[in-house]
Amino acid sequence: MSKNIEGKVVVITGASSGLGEATARHLAAAGAKVVLGARREDRLRTLVNELTADGKEAIAVRTDVTDRDQVKALVDSAIEKFGRIDVMVNNAGLMQQSPIEAFKVDEWDDMIDVNVKGVLYGIAAAMPHMQKQKSGHIINVSSVAGHKVTPAGAVYCATKHAVRAISEGLRSEVKAYNMRTTIISPGAVATELPSHITHAESHEGINQYYEQVAVPPESFARAVAFAIEQPDEVDINEILYRPTKQE
Ligand code: NDP
Repeated sequence: MSKNIEGKVVVITGASSGLGEATARHLAAAGAKVVLGARREDRLRTLVNELTADGKEAIAVRTDVTDRDQVKALVDSAIEKFGRIDVMVNNAGLMQQSPIEAFKVDEWDDMIDVNVKGVLYGIAAAMPHMQKQKSGHIINVSSVAGHKVTPAGAVYCATKHAVRAISEGLRSEVKAYNMRTTIISPGAVATELPSHITHAESHEGINQYYEQVAVPPESFARAVAFAIEQPDEVDINEILYRPTKQE
């Protein structure tokens, strides 16, 4: 159990795999009550069953973050079940690398919808409760791709730059509500993220790179826990980390 994590109600989007799943396990082990959203309900149920069988508190709500009513329903479930929301982790994301000239316009739409609008919907759903509570913590997941732009990464990088801009704007606006905001910007982490790339050359390049450098998702979960467990008067604005092997 961890002092400033124990008992907190934490909503996590994209909790069915990768960083979100690892964070759910890590925070539940530290005593948080976790509320898990994603589209693959079977994966969420398996995780919730595993956590609750082990005495942890967890619920799952099927959520597509591109649908603002579903994101609101996810947060409302946290309030209904646990009476409050302490932390909102806007983690759900898609990375579909391709050069602009491949014109994968549907994939641009999907990345903007999930990575940018999904984060905004998470803020819109969680913040009214945090305003009332006069406390709360919004954690948005950006990336090293929110700091630099890589070939075949223009749109993904644009979405992750947008997450940082939104988060920084939010940070400056929520002082009256005693709210904390944190951006977490990981480098390469071994998850299912590259599996959605349909551009063959980009897919192969990323897979090779990830095989060489990527670190386990627990690296991210520890960063989230570090931000949450600080004393309430300390706001970790951003954590940027890379695998030691990543340039
Ligand atoms: P995964 O592909 O393993 O996980 C992505 C998660 O997002 C899944 O749980 C998926 O759930 C969910 N998701 C995707 N689309 C939607 C949607 N429309 N509605 C709800 N949930 C959705 O990848 P990661 O764990 O790596 O990615 C998590 C976050 O971390 C992303 O924002 C990513 O950009 C970011 N990131 C990852 C890095 C890495 O190297 N892995 C590096 C830097 C940042 P489901 O399909 O069940 O809906």
